[in-house]
Amino acid sequence: MTTSLFFLMWGLATGLALPLFVPFHASNVGGIKAFTAANALAVLSLLAYASSRILPPGVYVIVSNAAWVCALSLVYVGVRLFFGLRPQVLRTAGLGALCILAFALLLYGGDDLRGRILLFSVYTCTGALATGRVIFQQRKRLKTRGVMLYLMLAIFGLAGLHALRVAVYTIGGQMPVSLLDPSPWALFFIVCGVVTVPALFLALLLLVQTSQSEQMQAALTFDSLTRAYSRRSILDELGRELRRCKRVGGKLAVLVLDIDHFKSINDRYGHAGGDTALRHYAQVVQRAVRSSDRFGRLGGEEFVLLMYDCDSARALVQAQRVCDVLRDAPLYLQGAEVPMTTSGGLAVYLPGDTADGILARADAALYRAKQQGRDRVEMAWPGRAPGRPADAAPAAHEGAESTA
Ligand code: GH3
Ligand code: MG
Ligand code: MG
Repeated sequence: MTTSLFFLMWGLATGLALPLFVPFHASNVGGIKAFTAANALAVLSLLAYASSRILPPGVYVIVSNAAWVCALSLVYVGVRLFFGLRPQVLRTAGLGALCILAFALLLYGGDDLRGRILLFSVYTCTGALATGRVIFQQRKRLKTRGVMLYLMLAIFGLAGLHALRVAVYTIGGQMPVSLLDPSPWALFFIVCGVVTVPALFLALLLLVQTSQSEQMQAALTFDSLTRAYSRRSILDELGRELRRCKRVGGKLAVLVLDIDHFKSINDRYGHAGGDTALRHYAQVVQRAVRSSDRFGRLGGEEFVLLMYDCDSARALVQAQRVCDVLRDAPLYLQGAEVPMTTSGGLAVYLPGDTADGILARADAALYRAKQQGRDRVEMAWPGRAPGRPADAAPAAHEGAESTA
């Protein structure tokens, strides 16, 4: 009776993660359906054992073991799908089916308890090791620290537990007993199982949830078309950098860039051609600048480059390099070479600068670069940015954070 209650507790603890998997079904996370089904089958497996007093042994033993074999196989397949690997469904299903068939033979053809215990634990240990290997190989895929470690602890903990069980009942010389018999070893394995199995499903849930929030964070941080920093994140970064300059007196140069005659590319090659040109532009500029500098898209065909620890002379050389590299990087659309140039307005940090203020000066310089024939960079004048004709104004920086 006591062990049946343990199994009930174990089953309920394993089911804690189950309702939390469901909301993720609407998302595009790979393997989520496999994880949910695996969690449900693990609960079924444990509840079948908890019902050992009301079900005949021929039923609960086979239901419980078959459900667990399927659950573990689905965890393996789900983890592979989650990481975008081939799921290996046929191979996994084939091995699982063979294992269930062997259970049936060991139960109905002579009731070999020792054989069943060893088969169960060898299968669980092997399945957990195979899954753990995939997780270990993909451990760098999440940026959030600790999630992969927790998942590996759970899966390798499960593998270790079943390896120990095999050792105890083979080289350890212990008589194998069912987990339903309250022997010290059976109770030990139950207590360890109550920790590792629910931890495994909670870790999988954490994996799914963390990957979703990392994807959302990336969508907010990067522009989806060009992979440059998004307007929001580059303006946040500008605000942070200006505060740092104010605090420690650092140097910062801000280059506002605008593609020349971009509308004509759109008109000639269509919107899709224009998008290709924008991606090409972002790639070329990012290759031309220092990896420590931040390049973001302000909107449309207007971008900004933040150059850290850069005085005006170095920044001007760097900005002109951007124009030169773009001029020399061929863009091909519909088989034709499309010349592409850019103009830039450069402003360096002045004490007391706000994000709006430095961007307005860079904008005014950009406007002069356009007026003077494009494909060039103009330095901003110190002091307040002069007014500009409203119809020629580039995108307003209304989202810029004030840092004064
Ligand atoms: P200038 O040299 O004076 O900057 O001229 P321009 O043609 O580059 O500037 P204008 O402001 O007249 O045109 C910008 C065009 O950029 C208009 C708009 O349709 C296009 N555009 C804005 N965002 C996107 C986008 O995401 N994709 C594409 N394909 N086009 C875009
Ligand atoms: Mg333009
Ligand atoms: Mg523009």
